[in-house]
Amino acid sequence: MKKPILTLLTLLGFSLVVLGQERPLNIIAIGAHPDDCDSKFGGTAALFAKMGHNVKFLSLTSGDAGHQSQGGGALANRRRAEAKEAGKRLGIAEYETLDNHDAELLPTLEVRHQVIRKIREWDADIVLGLRSNDYHPDHRNAGKLVQDAAYMVIVPNVCPDTPPLKKNPIFLYMQDRFKRPYPFVPDIVVAIDDVIEKKIDALDAHQSQMYEWGPWTNNRSQDQVPKGKKERREWLSKRVKRNPGQMSEDRKASLIKWYGAEKAAAIKYTEAFEIAEYGFQPSKEEVLQFFPMLKPAKSIKP
Ligand SMILES: [Zn+2]
Repeated sequence: MKKPILTLLTLLGFSLVVLGQERPLNIIAIGAHPDDCDSKFGGTAALFAKMGHNVKFLSLTSGDAGHQSQGGGALANRRRAEAKEAGKRLGIAEYETLDNHDAELLPTLEVRHQVIRKIREWDADIVLGLRSNDYHPDHRNAGKLVQDAAYMVIVPNVCPDTPPLKKNPIFLYMQDRFKRPYPFVPDIVVAIDDVIEKKIDALDAHQSQMYEWGPWTNNRSQDQVPKGKKERREWLSKRVKRNPGQMSEDRKASLIKWYGAEKAAAIKYTEAFEIAEYGFQPSKEEVLQFFPMLKPAKSIKP
C-alpha cells in the first residue's frame, strides 16, 4: 500500500504548496535497524504526518541480531511487526524492514542499489540518514550507504529499471552524540513537545528492544523493567523525558534561530538534523518550506 495519505488527500481535494508545487512532501528516513528512525526522528515524523505529508521509515536490516535469547527469522518477523505497529502509532504512511542481516550490514553495491531504488520509488524530497560516525558498524554503514545514494538517485544509468529523480533531494543526518572526527551539527531543530506522547507510544511498540534487549545490553538490567504494560510505558516515558529543556549550547542557539528566544525558552523536547553536503543545499527560506512546522504561525487579524 503506497502513500494512502496522498490518495486520501487527493480525494478530498486537499493539497499543500510545496516548493511552488501543490502537493505533499515525500520524506524517507533510513536507519540500520527497526527503531533507529523512531528514536531520532519519530516526533518530527509524527508532525509531518499530521500535516498531511508522506513519511516512510526504512530499516536496512531485519534486526535479527538484536536480542539476547531470540534470533533468526522469528526475531526478524517479531521486529517487523513491532516496526509496523510503531509506524501506525506515529501515523506515518509506511514502515518497511529489509531482509539484510543485522550486525552484518556492509556498504556494498547491492545494498546501495536497494537504497537508490527505495529513495526513487518514494519520489523523495527529503532523505534522512545516519552519520557514518557511530558506535555500531551497521549505523556507520547505513550512513555510508545513504551518502553513496545521494546524487546517484538522479543518474539514469544507475539502476535504470527505476526512473531517476528529477532533482537531488535534501539529505539530512539524524542526531547522534559522537564527537570524532567531528560532532553532529544541529542545523535544524524541531520542537516535538506536541507529539512527545506519540513518540513514546511508537518506542513502546518496540517491546523486544525497549524492555528486553536494550536493558540487557545496559548491565543486564532487564529484571528492573516493570512487567505490566502500563507500568512499562511509564518507565519508558520517564527515560525519554529525562532532563526536559536541557540541551547543548549549539542546539539551543539553533532552536532560537528557528523559533525565536521567547518560544524556544518554553520548548522541552527536540529533534535535530544536520544538512548533508551531498544533497540539495537549501536556503533558510527553503528549509521553512521543507519543514513547514517551523514556519511562524500567521497572525490572525480581527
Ligand atoms: Zn540501531
